[in-house]
Amino acid sequence: MSLYRRVTCAKGGTCNTKGRNAKCSKCGRRLEGGAWWYRFRFAGRIVHEPAKTTSKTLAIQAERHRRRGAEQPWNHVDGRQPREPVKQRLRSKKGGNQ
Ligand SMILES: [Zn+2]
Repeated sequence: MSLYRRVTCAKGGTCNTKGRNAKCSKCGRRLEGGAWWYRFRFAGRIVHEPAKTTSKTLAIQAERHRRRGAEQPWNHVDGRQPREPVKQRLRSKKGGNQ
């Protein structure tokens, strides 16, 4: 999980923090302004979206919210019926054959 600021670089593309004092190695400027983006991996998929805010605090909250939104249907905690456990299914199948 990572949170980063995406700033359009004067030299093209987006600014990075690879230069001295975490400055952009291309244009030499500090990252200022620009929206926050978050990126995390969930269930083998990469979620990479803009938080659509320039506030870091809000971006962290947005990422948490997005994560929870992805995890809830996965864990069946959103009110949907979980699948019957495998053991139980096998038992009822066996009983039906005898
Ligand atoms: Zn730059």
